[in-house]
Amino acid sequence: MKTEVSHFKDNIRSWYKNNARNFSWRKTNDPWKIYLIEILSQQTQLDRANKYYKKFISEYPNPEKMAVASKKKILKLWSGLGYNNRAIRLHESAKILSKKSFNDLYPNFMELPGVGKYTNSALLSFAYGEKVITVDTNVKRVVQRYFKKDNVDKFIEENEKDLLKHFNSRDFNQALMDLGSYICTSTNPKCNICPLEQECMKYIKITKKQQEPFHNSNRQKRGQIVNILINTKKVRSSELAKKLNIKETTLNKLIKDLERDGILNISKNKYIEIKSN
Ligand code: SF4
Repeated sequence: MKTEVSHFKDNIRSWYKNNARNFSWRKTNDPWKIYLIEILSQQTQLDRANKYYKKFISEYPNPEKMAVASKKKILKLWSGLGYNNRAIRLHESAKILSKKSFNDLYPNFMELPGVGKYTNSALLSFAYGEKVITVDTNVKRVVQRYFKKDNVDKFIEENEKDLLKHFNSRDFNQALMDLGSYICTSTNPKCNICPLEQECMKYIKITKKQQEPFHNSNRQKRGQIVNILINTKKVRSSELAKKLNIKETTLNKLIKDLERDGILNISKNKYIEIKSN
């Protein structure tokens, strides 16, 4: 198990180095900012939650400011995000936090409305640098598939120490969240561009075909195409071929593979982009 855990960590670490999504709150250890994005991103995609985060943090840079705001003002800022009870909980938390700081509550933040085990772990990991895994559905799915464990919660709990040994918990948690939401998705996981593909138990089980060597392979090129598109809205095939230093005919074949796998879309005017869902 030690070798599997260490391969898992090595691959996750190097993948995250080149693929981390760049959000301002990913670099902060201000618990208010972390709490805010956690509440905003519940049942909401990160990109969308991030737009609201920017509005909220500029209006309410600390809980004291939010505590004295009216409910109406908060609901107005929240408008369009849905699940309004989250806005109400956020407001109530701000009122508590204007009297008691996060440091006063540490290490148990569950006194704040809307904080469960997951958000508590997120605060411990991202704001306080604790060696804690934030166990959400994305993290569980990746770990469950890779290690092929039926009781994934138990497995994570028993191996948390090893999984986080010599690994910053913030990077580990964020890497697994990104991998789970973009590559190891619940349906149609994109195993052909996954950094864990070689040893993933799920992958080994679903395909017994001989793997092509990675370096300079079509698999590597497909991975590069997706990485470019994750960070760009859409791109023309000629531009993409230039970036990858390959012929357009070769690129078209790779694009077809990715289109068949449901990863990409090619628009009528030959723009290529990641399929929206
Ligand atoms: S190889 Fe496939 S199933 Fe395994 S972790 Fe990667 S995307 Fe998920």
